[in-house]
Amino acid sequence: MYQSPLLTSGPATEILHQIIEVARVSGICIYLVGGSVRDRIIGLPLKDIDLVTLVKPDHFIANIIAKLNAKLVQHSQYDTYKLIIGNVPVDVCMSRTEYYLKPAGKPVIHPASIDLDMYRRDFSMNAIAMPLLTGASTALIDPTKGITDIKSKSIRVLHQDSFRDDPSRIIRAILYEQRLAFSIETTTLKLMLRDKTHLKLLPANKIRQILDNIFMEEQPESIIRRILQLNLLPSLTNLLRSFNKHHSSARSIKTVKPTVKSLDIYLGMSAWFLTSLQLGMLQTQLALTNQQMKLVNEISTIKNLVKKTRNNRISLSDIYFELRETSELSRMIASHTVSDSHFIELLTEYESNLKWVKPSLNKRDLCAATGIPEGPLLGEVIRAIITAKIDGKISGKAAEIQLARKVVRALHA
Ligand code: ATP
Repeated sequence: MYQSPLLTSGPATEILHQIIEVARVSGICIYLVGGSVRDRIIGLPLKDIDLVTLVKPDHFIANIIAKLNAKLVQHSQYDTYKLIIGNVPVDVCMSRTEYYLKPAGKPVIHPASIDLDMYRRDFSMNAIAMPLLTGASTALIDPTKGITDIKSKSIRVLHQDSFRDDPSRIIRAILYEQRLAFSIETTTLKLMLRDKTHLKLLPANKIRQILDNIFMEEQPESIIRRILQLNLLPSLTNLLRSFNKHHSSARSIKTVKPTVKSLDIYLGMSAWFLTSLQLGMLQTQLALTNQQMKLVNEISTIKNLVKKTRNNRISLSDIYFELRETSELSRMIASHTVSDSHFIELLTEYESNLKWVKPSLNKRDLCAATGIPEGPLLGEVIRAIITAKIDGKISGKAAEIQLARKVVRALHA
């Protein structure tokens, strides 16, 4: 069943070969670890590369950057480096032990042997190391019997206090369970349930990161269902339930906007159904990014606009100016969420016609026709022309120039 990554092909394997060559030249011993080894044992292709070194990797990293055109994405504490080579993520860190002084705290770390490094990991299936510079033997280092667990499709934690040390491992277990169709071993599940309250101790940005990871999976719905079933994140129950109502819309938006994070799409869709109080709480619970806050605020703007259009209290040009301040993503989310057919018609009208409306004259000609310089005054003139055009009060170049001159006179008066 086991296949060496060096025998497989694909872009990540090519890059791994090149990295091994750099390690050889740098005279450094490297190990492939974590998911990279696990997935190869399962028979899945190598998609990212996790490496461990026995000495500080700074010199090796400098060589990789110089020789393989690698981009350094992050260099964090504990001598951990995140690189991108081609499109392949490469993580490099130095072999270490970790010791936690309090639940969900920061670990105290010490350099350690590769065997000991395996014991700091989350599950036995992720605690296997493959030496990459020992020629044909490449004997796997598997002190926690991870290969046996992979063969029996079992997710097993390495010690009693693992989930106390780092409660995010509880959600990692669910993620692997659903992704790989593995079972969580009985004692591991008991420990997860015993320690699930420690998830409350994780900082808000870590919870957001966890949600982000869930939505990078192919089947986020089954992960969310399992989290709800085991009541792992009780303070987020309503949000998670709401997420699970939007999978098909979120997927279709993602196909049109592939670069947008899935979590943002789900947050935007859910924001539609939350009160401002709930949105405020969400901001605190997840430490939303500025971009996510902007999206959530745009959704609120559109929600208010729906109310105004229902009462016919707003002109078409006002609708235009309000929608102009929103992103295409938030309008797309609205079009999947609003049930009001009149508003959907207005959104369609905005996307296909209104948003393209502009004065018939360009800025330079408008300045020449009105005798004003480019600047805020010209902005007022353009706004007046667009308003009148959208509301059907003027048409044609002559009428636009006439209106522009009138606006300038009024502003100078
Ligand atoms: P994926 O296929 O999702 O990339 P992965 O196993 O490579 O899975 P990463 O999050 O990239 O997961 O982490 C790499 C390795 O680092 C893991 O396999 C595991 O050995 C270790 N690891 C990551 N997060 C933790 C954690 N919270 N606690 C202990 N070990 C961890």
